[in-house]
Amino acid sequence: MKPVIALVGRPNVGKSTLFNRLTRSRDALVADLPGLTRDRHYGEGRIGERPFLVIDTGGFEPVAKEGIMFQMALQTKQAVAEADVVVFLVDGRQGMTPHDKTITDFLRKSGRPVLLVVNKAEGMKYTSAVSDFYELGLGDPYAISGAHGDGVHDLVQEALDKAFASRPGDAEELLPAERGIKLALVGRPNVGKSTLINTLVGEERVIAFDMPGTTRDSIEIPFERDGKHYTLIDTAGIRRRGKVFEAVEKFSVVKTLQSISEANVVVLMLDAQQDISEQDAHIAGFILESGRALVLAVNKWDGLTSDQRDKVKMDMDRKIDFLSFANTHFISALKGTGIAQLMKSVDSAYAAAMADLSTPKLTRALAEAVEKQEPKRKGGMRPKMRYAHQGGMNPPIIVIHGNSLDAISEPYKRYLEKHFRDTFQLVGTPLRIELRTGK
Ligand code: GDP
Ligand code: GDP
Repeated sequence: MKPVIALVGRPNVGKSTLFNRLTRSRDALVADLPGLTRDRHYGEGRIGERPFLVIDTGGFEPVAKEGIMFQMALQTKQAVAEADVVVFLVDGRQGMTPHDKTITDFLRKSGRPVLLVVNKAEGMKYTSAVSDFYELGLGDPYAISGAHGDGVHDLVQEALDKAFASRPGDAEELLPAERGIKLALVGRPNVGKSTLINTLVGEERVIAFDMPGTTRDSIEIPFERDGKHYTLIDTAGIRRRGKVFEAVEKFSVVKTLQSISEANVVVLMLDAQQDISEQDAHIAGFILESGRALVLAVNKWDGLTSDQRDKVKMDMDRKIDFLSFANTHFISALKGTGIAQLMKSVDSAYAAAMADLSTPKLTRALAEAVEKQEPKRKGGMRPKMRYAHQGGMNPPIIVIHGNSLDAISEPYKRYLEKHFRDTFQLVGTPLRIELRTGK
């Protein structure tokens, strides 16, 4: 399937001229006549080895009787619906017009990736050609000359990258299975999150990013690894710039909390070359509270002496011992070491978090636990546990039914948790035990 690029914009901004250049045909009418209504034109183009389809929408006319929106619905809307990416042309010589804003609003609602392109920029300084159009909020504009060909090649490359990246369509249309494991990568600034994302995503196929329907500064990055699907969700403090992901300076507690709560599995990244800080411990606390599955990634393991490595491990035992249910990986995001194993733990943590525990199995495991060690009497009451069922996933909740369960002590509850964890091999996920006393 060839990616589809739609050329959208007011009449006379130069869509047909660009269309002709891209398709090297004389199919489309080029005339300096505003108000000329045209059909959509489809053409085939190619840049190097990359073929594509291009649609010239002809633009919409502000015809009084029918109205702008009506025209847009008829022409632009259909083309946009068919497109993988929209090239939105504006006129650098004329500057911004109200119609450009109307079109922007429409494109934003469409959810398609949009490249804002200032045409007729030959002989103009980049800044003076584009400065008017930042106001549209579509990011850095491209400056091209469709007539002369300046900047067209780069524009098409970027459009094709976006088209490829936006497939197979809107986030809403992705089946849950295709989004795979929802992954949050959290950690304080400078631990190496963006470096890991680039390593993870750079070598594999990025299916989509900058998902429509989300707020402007949130990102979702579905990617594939070893044939498995993952979606990095709303990774706080990371933005895409050009082809790579970069860190932004500030740390946002709200975004970190949001991404944790939306994830199935959280990767908490620590910096082996720094002491574990209070901020690290806070983030660890958020994760524990959320009940999400967890994998620890201790980054920047490269270049440490064995003494330094021992010191890191001791620091972890002392400060984040409460995360010992999770697997720990010592990695180098920069060198790419330890990452395959890290992703294996992500998979197993997810499997544990989503484990389907049947009532008979749980009840049998409960009976085994009691057989090994009975709960103590408390105030003349002997707790009697009858059966267990699963009350939830991610984290797994095990609900135990019986009588006088108020008498069960915290240490015994932890004993039960460990027994269930061992029996069902639930590594990497918190486990919740709820006690319900029958009437
Ligand atoms: P459309 O109606 O939006 O498809 O625009 P056209 O492609 O028909 O172009 C409208 C007018 O702008 C024509 O007179 C073109 O020759 C002119 N034009 C198109 N591209 C450029 C360009 O890159 N630079 C300049 N100076 N004029 C251009
Ligand atoms: P973020 O703020 O968490 O996204 O951190 P960055 O990915 O921007 O990384 C911060 C700094 O740590 C950069 O200078 C990286 O090059 C460096 N860094 C990241 N990963 C590693 C690693 O595995 N080893 C070493 N030595 N440096 C790393």
